[in-house]
Amino acid sequence: MNKGLLVVYAGASGVGKGTIMKRLLAENPNIRLSVSATTRAPREGEQDGREYYFVTREEFEKLIAEDGFLEHAEYVGNCYGTPKAPVFKMLDEGLDVFLEIELKGFLQIKKAYPECVSIFIVPPSFEELQARLRGRGTESPEVIAERLKTAQEELSHHHLFDYVVVNDDVDRAAKEVLSIISAIKTEKE
Ligand code: 5GP
Repeated sequence: MNKGLLVVYAGASGVGKGTIMKRLLAENPNIRLSVSATTRAPREGEQDGREYYFVTREEFEKLIAEDGFLEHAEYVGNCYGTPKAPVFKMLDEGLDVFLEIELKGFLQIKKAYPECVSIFIVPPSFEELQARLRGRGTESPEVIAERLKTAQEELSHHHLFDYVVVNDDVDRAAKEVLSIISAIKTEKE
């Protein structure tokens, strides 16, 4: 059986990755999103085991010590990591696994799994990103400012990704991601 694709799916905080992801999952039954572990507090509406596994710093460090992560990184004061075992299991089952992760995690994956496919979602403009992040109202002004600074830094690394997709329209951007995946799979067959 063919192994599935390991897809790094990155983009600044507030760029709309989550909304595009929902479309991808709805439209392609072979796609799965890896659920990360984080020390960040849940946002309203987030459920443990669905958006993230919400863990303490001690639990996170234990997972690092047990070599339980495919990659892990700190982002604006919190730790985030991709649990290794479920990803390998899904890939073995032929599923295409998306890792919604930030830049430092991507660099670790790119080094360890050079066959991965990387897609970077960008906003139509930085002003648009600022407006979206402020409009979301889930973070304090200080955290928003820090997330925007990190976003600017991440945007300057777009050239490291295989594909850059502009989220000017959710439907269009989702279709573009689906065509990228389907083209790669056809090529591999
Ligand atoms: P948020 O707090 O907004 O959910 O996520 C903050 C950033 O952490 C986002 O860029 C998100 O993609 C990234 N992230 C989420 N899970 C992981 C992970 O497992 N590893 C890494 N390196 N980044 C992650």
